[in-house]
Amino acid sequence: MVFRLLTETDNEVTEKLCWNDQWISPYESAWGIFEKFKYANNANSRDIMSLFGDEKVRNQKNKSKSKYDLLNFMKFDLNLIRDGLGIDFYHKNKIEIAHMLGPLTKKSYKNEPIYDYSFFFRDTIAYCPTCMENGFHSIFFQFKLIKKCPYHDILLLKECPACFAKIPYELSDLNTLEPFQCKCEYRFFKPQSKLLFSNEWVSSNLDRITCNNVNKYLNLTTGDMLRLKDMYLFKEIELDAYPNVLENIISILDFKDSQVEDNAHFIVTSAPNVKKIRGEKEKYEIQKYTKVNFPGINEEAIRKLRFHEFQKEIYQSYTATITGVAGQLRKTLLSKHRTCINRLIKNPNDKMQICPYAFAYVFWREYSQNFSNHTSVDNYGSPKRLVKNHIEFPQFDVEVMQNLYEFLGSDIEDITLESRAALKWFLNRVISHLSINHFNNMLSASQSYIDRRKFPSTLPYTKYDKIPFFVAIRPKDRNKPLEFHWWGQQLIISNLNCPFNTVKSKRAQS
Ligand SMILES: [Zn+2]
Ligand SMILES: [Zn+2]
Ligand SMILES: [Zn+2]
Repeated sequence: MVFRLLTETDNEVTEKLCWNDQWISPYESAWGIFEKFKYANNANSRDIMSLFGDEKVRNQKNKSKSKYDLLNFMKFDLNLIRDGLGIDFYHKNKIEIAHMLGPLTKKSYKNEPIYDYSFFFRDTIAYCPTCMENGFHSIFFQFKLIKKCPYHDILLLKECPACFAKIPYELSDLNTLEPFQCKCEYRFFKPQSKLLFSNEWVSSNLDRITCNNVNKYLNLTTGDMLRLKDMYLFKEIELDAYPNVLENIISILDFKDSQVEDNAHFIVTSAPNVKKIRGEKEKYEIQKYTKVNFPGINEEAIRKLRFHEFQKEIYQSYTATITGVAGQLRKTLLSKHRTCINRLIKNPNDKMQICPYAFAYVFWREYSQNFSNHTSVDNYGSPKRLVKNHIEFPQFDVEVMQNLYEFLGSDIEDITLESRAALKWFLNRVISHLSINHFNNMLSASQSYIDRRKFPSTLPYTKYDKIPFFVAIRPKDRNKPLEFHWWGQQLIISNLNCPFNTVKSKRAQS
């Protein structure tokens, strides 16, 4: 280290800074900008906070072990940054992030954002090696929808290529040795000459973006923007786990009214007038639970009565949905294993071999539908009835379903007066998607349980790790149908061995 900025007084510091605001590009990340600043001034994060931290941080003694958040800019003095670096850092960052999240942000019924930053942004550095060689890091690289460099079409890297360390997206001296340099000494920035480094820092134009999907996404038409705003993403799944999220979301725009399906993109739509459909029971209950028929009790108590009927109907409907999925499975994948299923539920203590298909099926149903025991599945038992006064979703998916339910009720005053057809349609589409996924998971875990002679006590906990990416769309326009989209096959074809198949075929041979 040649000198420390800290030794100067404030006025002199600004004059002596080596800095040019022309080095900064649109969508350059705060992390990248600070690394440049550090590099040019032989400074570290502690120096940056001494210059640009808020009053409290500037006066703080030990800054070397601290970490500073680069998405919300807590603890920075934004005016000092603006005056010192010549860029309104905070607004640049805020506007660019708002643009990136444009069609994705939503408010829930408590008027709180449904998603937080960590749903959309990676908390460790992702980067394009070519861009980093030039000392450029973009906030695009942190956005989980983007997997390749929009400028170079190169797959983003998430680790140091030398030591595989991940570097947190924050301002800190804990993760790097020198600016743009990993703790293992690997250099991400490779200037041609240490003295002429700034020749390589030329502001890059957004016109250089070669990726069509990124271009389309950043320049949505008003119509496309409104359509995507009707989309609900499930925050319980990890966006970074899907390689084609951006392509998938863009493909929603290409889907107009036709029911085209290919191997990758599946769509189900409701009847266009689903929000206006009212069943007989529903009509009857709306008329029954009113002040006229219950003059003695207040509105809230009447609503509770109505809600009780309402939740029973929702519960019956999704229970029937899972039973329907089970029926479909028995007709297709499990058609050759019906005797295996019977054998397992009728002889639970059978010391004989167990078929992994049957095993997956009975335990999946036991835990999906709250059967008292796996031997009651498809035997004498039926799914447990609920008599509660609140909506109770399948235990295993309660978070997903509760969030979706709240979202669907977010702009409605009384959900018990909304069309149940629409509500059930949505909930059932999602329940069925989740349910098939749980069956897949149980199927892939079944052989290992059988080998250990153990029965599972719940569904596998890696519950959404392999679920095909899915979104729900609820148009604000009441005349448009609801949509459910997913990408990839729901049912994973498995090649497990059924022990009874081999017995049968051996018998047939001899
Ligand atoms: Zn690049
Ligand atoms: Zn390294
Ligand atoms: Zn079998």
